[in-house]
Amino acid sequence: MAFEALKATLEHNGFQVSVFATKEDATAYLNREIDNTTVGMGGSMTITQMDLKENLSAHNLVFSHGYTLCDAPQVQKLAANADVYILSANAIAENTGEILNIDGRGNRVASSLYGHKKVYLLAGKNKISPDFESALFRLRNVVAPKNAQRLKRNTPCAAKGDKCYNCSSPERICNGLVVLYKKMMGMDMEVILIDEELGY
Ligand code: SF4
Repeated sequence: MAFEALKATLEHNGFQVSVFATKEDATAYLNREIDNTTVGMGGSMTITQMDLKENLSAHNLVFSHGYTLCDAPQVQKLAANADVYILSANAIAENTGEILNIDGRGNRVASSLYGHKKVYLLAGKNKISPDFESALFRLRNVVAPKNAQRLKRNTPCAAKGDKCYNCSSPERICNGLVVLYKKMMGMDMEVILIDEELGY
């Protein structure tokens, strides 16, 4: 089974873990599990590729980019108070199960720590790194530059797309790093591992 050792490591760290061969299978599972509730979503190419917003919006109240009934700061507050929150993991260290996320504003990583009944963390196979050091390197030199390019940020990494320049740009995309060593107290957390390349 794909991810067998990582699944056991994450379960040892307190997380529920579900493994899927395809993003379609994972989306169908989440569509069954998350019903008639409020859902917040962090910005994520994985979420977009899984068509999660479209699927879950049909039978839940989903607060994410594109919600048009209020402005962006209000959407972020509503998402922060939703019963369920979904984000992708930027990287997972295979040897320890540490889950790493980096963020510019902080709303996405804050929701990975507190405030919901349940948090789902999505990860395609490209998000798995051998250890913490390689995961952090990947975050700073691959994930952040690609997201900066996608969001058209005025940062050196967005201009060149090759590595992190540890910039001081006001539009810097990576101001905070959150590492989940274990599941947080007081809320359910499930890792969704998908045996496909998804997101950055
Ligand atoms: S510190 Fe600046 S250059 Fe480095 S990844 Fe973040 S935004 Fe890009």
